[in-house]
Amino acid sequence: MSGSRAGPRRDHSRAVEDYLKAIFKLQAESLQVSTTALAGELDRSDASVTNMVKALAEQGLLVHEPYHGVRLTPQGESTALRIIRRHRVIETYLIERLRYTWDGVHEEAERLEHAASDELIDRMARALGDPDEDPHGAPIPSSDGVIASRDLVSLTELPVGVDAVVREVSDEDSVRLRELAAAGFLLGTGVVVTDRSPDGDVVVRVAGGVQTLDAVTAALIRLERSETTRVDESDDSDKGR
Ligand SMILES: [Zn+2]
Repeated sequence: MSGSRAGPRRDHSRAVEDYLKAIFKLQAESLQVSTTALAGELDRSDASVTNMVKALAEQGLLVHEPYHGVRLTPQGESTALRIIRRHRVIETYLIERLRYTWDGVHEEAERLEHAASDELIDRMARALGDPDEDPHGAPIPSSDGVIASRDLVSLTELPVGVDAVVREVSDEDSVRLRELAAAGFLLGTGVVVTDRSPDGDVVVRVAGGVQTLDAVTAALIRLERSETTRVDESDDSDKGR
């Protein structure tokens, strides 16, 4: 009996939430989000993406202009942020309270984010002390839909010789996440790129060793450059101690 109730309607709202989340992510990466890019991100056919985009436009969640791609409306964006908040609070809770590892929570959160109520999420967040970042370093939107914007650079773009600190590691690939943790790429760890090969490999000094990452893996890591912090912490500060 429950089967018929959970049916198409629930699948539809879950799909809507996944689309909005994917568009929000792609919008952060590039100014224009094509339906082809969206199909790639969601691993769906161009035809099914075109249909869904049309339905979402009719619901006022996005605008779709030929040749300019799709863009979330304020309503679409606030729905996306709500799902992202759910996802990141759930991951934080699983790791902090239930002892999951950082490579073991993404799939759980992908399922639970569609089922949890906003009240449950707010209670979980409160129990955790309302964290502003999840255990992968991703910012957690506030309950009123505000997300911190940060000036981070991908490891694929960090210039050679520049000191930087790992601030965020993408959590979608648990195998790579585990490898990165083992190689020392944990949040707050200092890194320096020492070399790059023409095919995109990045040689990095990290945690007392040297690691070579391929371009796909390097793209999962986002960093904050250390130069500015260094200048701020110049000599006078320790004179009085
Ligand atoms: Zn995740």
